[in-house]
Amino acid sequence: MSFRAVVIDNLEGERRVGMRTFEEADLMPGDTLVRVTHSSLNYKDALAITSNAPVVRRYPMIPGIDLAGVVERTTHPQLAPGDRVILNGWGTGETHLGAYAERSQVPGEWLLPQPSAFSPEEAMAIGTAGYTAALCLLALERAGARPESGPVLVTGAAGGVGSVAVALLKASGWTVLASTGRPQESEYLKSLGAAELLPRADLAAKPKPLGKERWAAAIDVVGGTTLASVLSMTRYGGSVACCGLAGSLELPATVAPFILRGVTLLGIDSVMTPRERRLEAWSLLEKRLERSMLRRLSTPIGLEEAIAAAPALLRGEIRGRVVIKVGS
Ligand code: NDP
Repeated sequence: MSFRAVVIDNLEGERRVGMRTFEEADLMPGDTLVRVTHSSLNYKDALAITSNAPVVRRYPMIPGIDLAGVVERTTHPQLAPGDRVILNGWGTGETHLGAYAERSQVPGEWLLPQPSAFSPEEAMAIGTAGYTAALCLLALERAGARPESGPVLVTGAAGGVGSVAVALLKASGWTVLASTGRPQESEYLKSLGAAELLPRADLAAKPKPLGKERWAAAIDVVGGTTLASVLSMTRYGGSVACCGLAGSLELPATVAPFILRGVTLLGIDSVMTPRERRLEAWSLLEKRLERSMLRRLSTPIGLEEAIAAAPALLRGEIRGRVVIKVGS
């Protein structure tokens, strides 16, 4: 059987990305074949498509780290044909053929049941970015952060992780400060639940070892001097969840916030997170996130359009999340 897919080829060193027909026989090993209905565009997918970073580890590659779909064939004991499932990460779109295709073959243990509170489109409006925002919140809560401790800061707030984080934190009772480089998105961010906006530039310069104590907790997607500034302005005993590098891979910080204010830096990885923690994150999203917020923060596109949307996402021009309609 053949189906439509976005495929990244490497022909004698020349990289090509385009729509083409892919054969089921050429899919990678996996005990479960999924009919993919929806995916989403994440930062990592955009990197894979534009080849700005070493995301893709084999060729040909089908990008797409998120899927929602229906099990078509399986030998996995906990799955059956017709089950509605989702997948985030596990190396799909990097080392394993990904979700920008009408079929995906994966180990069944990578699949979670589609959360009953969400449609496939809504689950992909959350996608890896939103599930990562939930992992950040779970980590902050495990570290003892509570809305009563003070405000929470979200950096890169108008992006994918940031938008879901703002809505989720607001729904969890926090006063949310949203840092953005896009003042034109202030109404959007307020509609998601931001109480106050901070210009991106306020956090961009190299900070003093300790700054004025401003927030009790933070979710940072930017890294670099932004994360260093966030740490330097975190209140005594506060926690910062670090999940991204949209600004920089570097961390030009001092140890002052850690040793003089007892600040905790929490590292978040979504790709290899164990199944139990994934279920916990999705359950948190089901309980707290309003579905109306998902419509507000997401834009639907077709599979072909993902290729053109990728560079726009890396330029920071895309607001919130992009949901990709893959197949029926
Ligand atoms: P988006 O591109 O949707 O959002 C990133 C946002 O960061 C932008 O919208 C912009 O927000 C801000 N930004 C972009 N460039 C800069 C810059 N140079 N300086 C300061 N701010 C900048 O990406 P996502 O939200 O999907 O992902 C964000 C980061 O999180 C990425 O690095 C991604 O790789 C990472 N990530 C990590 C995961 C993990 O498992 N650890 C999982 C998912 C994502 P604004 O316009 O509001 O300023």
